Amino acid sequence: MQSETKNFIKAILITSFSFIIISYLTFRTGLPKFPNIFLYNLIIIYSLHELGYHRSLFFLGSSIFLTILVSLAVNFSFVWNVPIFFITFLIADNEIKKHNYHFRVVETRIEEIKENINVLEDEHNKHKKEAVSLEKKEERYNALKDAVCVLSSTLTLDDVTKKIMDSAFNIVGKSESGLLFLVDTRKQELNLALSKNGTNSEKIKTKNGDILDDWVFKQRQCFLVEDIRRDFRFNADELSRCERNFRSVISCPLTEGNKVIGILRLESPKPYNYTTEDLRLLDIICDIGAVSLQNSILYKQTMDLAIRDGLTGLYLRRYFVERLKEELSRSLRNNSNCSFLMIDIDNFKNYNDEYGHTAGDMVLKVISKKLLNFVDSGIACRYGGEEFAILLPDASKKDALRVADNIRKAVKKEDIELRKVKTHVTISIGVTSFPEDAKVQDELIMRSDERLYKAKREGKDRVVAE
Ligand code: GH3
Ligand code: MG
Ligand code: MG
Repeated sequence: MQSETKNFIKAILITSFSFIIISYLTFRTGLPKFPNIFLYNLIIIYSLHELGYHRSLFFLGSSIFLTILVSLAVNFSFVWNVPIFFITFLIADNEIKKHNYHFRVVETRIEEIKENINVLEDEHNKHKKEAVSLEKKEERYNALKDAVCVLSSTLTLDDVTKKIMDSAFNIVGKSESGLLFLVDTRKQELNLALSKNGTNSEKIKTKNGDILDDWVFKQRQCFLVEDIRRDFRFNADELSRCERNFRSVISCPLTEGNKVIGILRLESPKPYNYTTEDLRLLDIICDIGAVSLQNSILYKQTMDLAIRDGLTGLYLRRYFVERLKEELSRSLRNNSNCSFLMIDIDNFKNYNDEYGHTAGDMVLKVISKKLLNFVDSGIACRYGGEEFAILLPDASKKDALRVADNIRKAVKKEDIELRKVKTHVTISIGVTSFPEDAKVQDELIMRSDERLYKAKREGKDRVVAE
């Protein structure tokens, strides 16, 4: 409004000034009136035009026309054209006002439309973001579905742990490293089953977990640490001793009923890397993983039941014979040695008679445990009642003799308490090597048996290899 008044004053001033100049020029020069009037009106219209009114061209035309008419009809002095100017001016001004009014209406409308566009743009952006996050969510849930399929069709423990870890890395993402601990139910402690590193390959020193894993194990709860240096729950100094480089962590327990059977943990060197949504996903992965883990544990137990002896935990004869066949073929292919030990407890019947069958069972257990200490890469089996067999792949006869004698000495040294009485047992061992002593499996077993009985005949508590 203010600027309009200014424009109006400006127009009055310009036209008045022009009027004075032209009047003066006309009086002084005595120029014909018509061009003066024309020039005069031209300046008025020009001033209006300059003020922004394009339709002033129309008034230019009408002003010229009126001026010509007036000049021709009546020989008036040009001062009589002043009213024409004022009429022209008033009409023009009125039109300008109208125009301005329309212009303002249009401008307001444009503003409104612009505002609407902004609102719509904001909404569009919001929807776009929502669509992207929904797409991401859908992707994650599809990946979860795939993980369920993969995990439910996996049976062995190693495969299950690997697939749980892979699923967590794929679905949650963002992680530099991941740790999967399994709970040793007997000792009630954590054991690192699998670790995965994204780019760095630092060594995991905390094989039994650190304070974070202990927390999850004891609390049976998930946690999200946004920045380990700022988290009041954990002592960052204590963690720095693990020499692992991480700032944010999410961790969840794998539970069966209300028992923790494992812990899955993802880490990143970036602080504030994970959200609660990530933690929720990890929790779902752990729930699915726990079922598969439990299945694989049951599967392993079932497999063990099928191939292991219930009393001693050693392999059963059937499985052992299969493995023996495989090992002999391998030795044949690789042109390597392989040795076989047949072991029998001396005078075992006496223990049974003296201390009872249960005590006898205990002796079998103790001896089995002792045997396992000597068969890192070998296979031990309960061959019969109180007979054991050990297969030593890649062991020459000399190696086998040394191992056999060490076993014999270790068993003899072992204190066995039966009914609060300390006692000792001895064993006899027959040793045979492939291909030195026997070329086929049956021959290998038969020779070992013969040598074992030779040891018995020669007085027991000895190793016979000839
Ligand atoms: P030897 O020194 O000649 O071997 O004498 P031995 O008394 O050990 O005789 P033998 O090897 O024939 O003994 C086999 C005994 O082992 C018979 C049986 O009572 C006992 N036995 C076999 N299986 C089991 C078992 O599972 N538990 C217990 N407690 N005893 C068993
Ligand atoms: Mg015996
Ligand atoms: Mg026997």
